Amino acid sequence: MKKKILVLGGGPCGLSAAWELSKYGYDVTVIEKESKVGGLCITNEYKGYRFDLGGHRFISKNKELVENVCRIMGEDLLTSDRKSVILLKGKTFDYPLSARDIFLKMDLWTNVKAFTSYLIAVFTKIVFRKKDISFEDWIVNRFGRTLYNLFFGPYTEKLWGISPKFISSDWASQRISLLNLKDVLFRLLKLKKGTTRTYAKGYFYPKKGIGQMFDIMSDEITGMGGKIILNATVSGINLNNDTVEGISYIQQGIKKTIDCDAVISTIPLPDLIKAFPGYLTKDIMSNASALKFRSVRFLNIMVDQPDISDNTWMYVSEGKYIVTRIQEPKRRSPFSAPEGKTSVMLEIPCNENDDTWNCPKESLLKRCLADLKELGIDIQDKIIDYFTTSVIHGYPVYSLDYSMHRQKLFDFLDCYENLITCGRQGTFRYFFMDTAMEMGIAAAQNLMLDNLWKKEDVRLMRSEKELIEATSVTA
Ligand SMILES: Cc1cc2nc3c(=O)[nH]c(=O)nc-3n(C[C@H](O)[C@H](O)[C@H](O)COP(=O)(O)OP(=O)(O)OC[C@H]3O[C@@H](n4cnc5c(N)ncnc54)[C@H](O)[C@@H]3O)c2cc1C
Repeated sequence: MKKKILVLGGGPCGLSAAWELSKYGYDVTVIEKESKVGGLCITNEYKGYRFDLGGHRFISKNKELVENVCRIMGEDLLTSDRKSVILLKGKTFDYPLSARDIFLKMDLWTNVKAFTSYLIAVFTKIVFRKKDISFEDWIVNRFGRTLYNLFFGPYTEKLWGISPKFISSDWASQRISLLNLKDVLFRLLKLKKGTTRTYAKGYFYPKKGIGQMFDIMSDEITGMGGKIILNATVSGINLNNDTVEGISYIQQGIKKTIDCDAVISTIPLPDLIKAFPGYLTKDIMSNASALKFRSVRFLNIMVDQPDISDNTWMYVSEGKYIVTRIQEPKRRSPFSAPEGKTSVMLEIPCNENDDTWNCPKESLLKRCLADLKELGIDIQDKIIDYFTTSVIHGYPVYSLDYSMHRQKLFDFLDCYENLITCGRQGTFRYFFMDTAMEMGIAAAQNLMLDNLWKKEDVRLMRSEKELIEATSVTA
């Protein structure tokens, strides 16, 4: 008889695990807290408009995964090119930053300061062997203090809610494309030829929003005999010594239990730990509590005009604006808004239950419209309707000691042979949906093929300190 596997969480990672297991006839049940699957990759539909939770797009280095996604999506998978900009001090800069753009758009004094501080950073790094401990170190060592203060510091502090001095450099290495002033100089002096390192431009996007990918995947899972239980919050892990025998969950206020042979968990790592019996986790609870997530509120505005701009993402660096990114969903798919209309989605980072999180939507709109106007986007008189959405577990906060706390939790969980934690929340790692999907598939293979992958290898997938987007197989 095939093993009975429980998958906790129905986001991209959990669904991919369930999809892989269902293909091979395993008895799979997904337990999902929300009323629909997709996790952070949900799309909300309202009055003919579609809004993701922050504009998503699909790119991957994994050819097989890309082929599978193309197969299940068929003609509903669109391809587009990204065009992203940074709005700063009334000017529009290319994103990723380009030295040429900065040179041409900044005044002479800022250019001189930027160049001098870059030289100081290079000198200090070589002479004093300055290490990259924090995010701030990483950026200043590569870009100099002036560009850090302009572009990176205020944006990062707004995104994470803490000073970049207290954020680990791990986050920077995968996220920031090098401006590489040295490279630019060498080219100017004709000492180097060839092209510079670039970001992946092309990407895939489903016609009806990113959530369509996971709606289709969930239909495939149930079509193959898998079960998906919605509105079910995992609340307890039932043990027999060091074996997980079953899971408890709460559905409509009623506690239910379900037995199993093995568990793939993709729910937030601290929540999984808290689901263990208290006497087991007493010593490690402080490690679980030390892992914090940054939340995000999204302001989704429907606009009575055909277009706003041709940008996929507009990054807002300055700390005086609460929004980090502005997006126009129509740039990803023309089916995101009715004909002749458009929409805007604002990403506003916050902490669960802080002032921004609790701010009434009317006040949030008022504040954001004023900010948008200052940024050159005046839609005040064109608003058809608006609503807000939010996520609690938006970003794992990479504090300076996060990896030590996380490892203690992994060591604890590794005592339970038939349980594996994976996914963005389950490994407390920052990565894109393609890695979440690859990880779910690897976790499933681990169970089916008797530890084909070590648990640690699954958790560490694609953790190389390489820019996530640079070498993707895209449209
Ligand atoms: C603003 C933003 C923009 C992004 N843009 C992109 C992009 O353009 N491209 C890209 O590839 N990636 C993007 N990402 C990242 C992408 O969303 C994630 O990598 C992906 O969703 C991770 O999938 P996951 O299954 O690991 O986690 P999640 O999507 O978080 O899924 C976890 C699931 O577990 C469920 N759950 C939690 N607790 C419980 C519980 N106790 N019981 C039962 N279920 C529970 C949740 O409801 C959720 O469905 C973005 C993320 C954010 C926040």
